[in-house]
Amino acid sequence: MKIAPLLAAVLLAVPHIATAQAPIDSHVHLWNGEKSIADYEAQVKAAGLTVAAFGGMWFGGPNQALAGNPDDIRARNDALLALAAKHPTMVPIATAHPYDGAAALDELQRVAGLGVKLLKIQPHTQKFDPADPRVLALVRRAGDLGIAVVIDNANIVPGGDSEKLFNLALGAPKTKFVFAHMGGLNFRFWNILKMARTAEGLFGNNIYFDISATVTLVADAPIEEEFIWTMRNVGIDRILIGSDHPQFSLKQTLDALDRLDITPAEKAKIRYENARDLMGLKP
Ligand SMILES: [Zn+2]
Repeated sequence: MKIAPLLAAVLLAVPHIATAQAPIDSHVHLWNGEKSIADYEAQVKAAGLTVAAFGGMWFGGPNQALAGNPDDIRARNDALLALAAKHPTMVPIATAHPYDGAAALDELQRVAGLGVKLLKIQPHTQKFDPADPRVLALVRRAGDLGIAVVIDNANIVPGGDSEKLFNLALGAPKTKFVFAHMGGLNFRFWNILKMARTAEGLFGNNIYFDISATVTLVADAPIEEEFIWTMRNVGIDRILIGSDHPQFSLKQTLDALDRLDITPAEKAKIRYENARDLMGLKP
């Protein structure tokens, strides 16, 4: 009578071990700088969680990083780097505006020299067209500097959000991209990667996704199975988790990930391993 419960306990512990590593939250908005970090950390702690690292970025609230004011963007990047220096778990995600041309390329070079590994640009709030050649120039430079480019991909930009981003990534094969939200509810588009990889010389292996926000909607929804099918088609090694705080909490996000009908090993990659490798963090 005693063996069965013991065995059950051991079996239950196996998936727990696989997901015990503290997650990396790749997508946290710092609308209000230091105060946002304090709010985020308090919320994570109150939920009984810890994070191995979190990617902190501007955007949202008063921080839109529009074109025509590169001095302002430079000051914001410096403020972000100062916050990261004070908060060891924070990975700074800098920004630039593609339409600032040479000034944006210079700023990218400058922040790369300061150790930045990630750039975020946002077609919707920064009001630029991902098909503009200045965007291609910026992301190519990022690739040369070893900086991965995070771009919002919630499909709220009219006129071919995912299609334009796909083209952009093909035009800059040396640059790693993270398409945030994995297309939102248009995630089905990204199954194209599975077919595209059969074309000669076309791999699309530089494309990663975070499933922030979208995962909270699809978990236990009628489209969950299709979402999982898409994650596997683009490659589980290419998927990151992010909360998109403050719009969603980390707990809400991890609970949704846990509800997805995928293996513990797949969850471990998404929670931690893929982001660790992409961000170049220590194991
Ligand atoms: Zn976001």
